[in-house]
Amino acid sequence: MAHQYLKTQPDVKGFFGEFGGSFIPPELQKEMDAITDAYFSISKSHDFITELRAIRKHFQGRPTPTYFCRNLSNKTGGRIYLKREDLNHTGAHKLNHCMGEGLLAKYLGKKRLIAETGAGQHGVALATAAAYFGLECEIHMGEVDIAKEHPNVVRMQLLGAKVVPVTHGLKTLKEAVDSAFQAYLIDPVTSIYCIGSVVGPHPFPMMVRDFQHVVGIEAREQFLEMTGELPDVVTACVGGGSNAMGIFSGFLDDEDVRLVGVEPSGRSLKIGDHAASLSYGKPGVLHGFRSYLLQNDKGEPEPVYSIASGLDYPGSGPEHCMLKDKGRVEYVMASDDECLEAFFTLSRIEGIIPALESSHAVAYAQKFARENPRQSILVNLSGRGDKDIDFIVENYKIPEA
Ligand SMILES: *Cc1c(COP(=O)(O)O)cnc(C)c1O
Repeated sequence: MAHQYLKTQPDVKGFFGEFGGSFIPPELQKEMDAITDAYFSISKSHDFITELRAIRKHFQGRPTPTYFCRNLSNKTGGRIYLKREDLNHTGAHKLNHCMGEGLLAKYLGKKRLIAETGAGQHGVALATAAAYFGLECEIHMGEVDIAKEHPNVVRMQLLGAKVVPVTHGLKTLKEAVDSAFQAYLIDPVTSIYCIGSVVGPHPFPMMVRDFQHVVGIEAREQFLEMTGELPDVVTACVGGGSNAMGIFSGFLDDEDVRLVGVEPSGRSLKIGDHAASLSYGKPGVLHGFRSYLLQNDKGEPEPVYSIASGLDYPGSGPEHCMLKDKGRVEYVMASDDECLEAFFTLSRIEGIIPALESSHAVAYAQKFARENPRQSILVNLSGRGDKDIDFIVENYKIPEA
């Protein structure tokens, strides 16, 4: 029963309703088709499943706990629970799909993992997977981001990855994607491209969701065991949407469980001040797939912004777009200020420093708990906030003790 939904989405061409698909040059399409075929056969094999299970348990430290926030619940008057992806190795949910992609690369006999990174979180997770599997790793990163995210650059280098500076255009994420794709096209036989969320051309949105599904399976079981019932609401922040699809996919067949994705409304609702693509985007194509996109009249992506760099993307995973249209998932927003308040509150009263991305979901959970004291809400705490501490210290005042 709990696994019916996943078998029906996407369709054979990788569409979730009208979203997703694959809008890429023919030479790249051949490679994507090969990866799709290989994924379907390999990911169902006994050896692959056994090896991935062992990796999750012994290397990543899964299952991560589900935790009842007594203090935050008392403060808000509701019942708030966290799925602790911040306790996953490397401190966030991203390693779940990077280890899956790395294992697939190993089965395919690939020698090298290629990807882009913005703030460096995906690059670090992928470099970790490459080190584990003994594969080469090449991470494309804009020069502007390299200067801003120095600790993550050092981490990638320590883990043995080659960081390739991207020097054209705005020298940030979009150019890094182009550069990584080009590098992949030069050598698609020995390399594999590893995307960082449930975005990009088919099969990536499906593959990344499937690798993140473990979060939802664990959370559902743990919540049932702790409380004897299912949560009333499950919530997660949405950038590309991988941590949200991970936890939501465990509950999609439970019709009574409300699912709520939280997008960043940033510093205002003016263009360039937020990244709420599901709330304000229009259907369009970017990076090889169709989604709700923040775009101008010419169909070019608009600049986006969030205090949390991991949420700073003008599109969204195609499955989220479909789930929004179906009404199965609601999408709401949290602002920079609400995110910061939640960041400081969870740190101070629960002893858990959350990632700024995850703080958006915590902000929504607090609001929900105040308004719905009898109901339970389960938050996917996608990552820990250690990476954000320098930024916080430089830009904000820590509340008095
Ligand atoms: C990258 C990141 C996100 C955003 O990515 P999704 O694909 O939307 O999950 C959220 N939280 C953390 C901690 C991240 O590192």
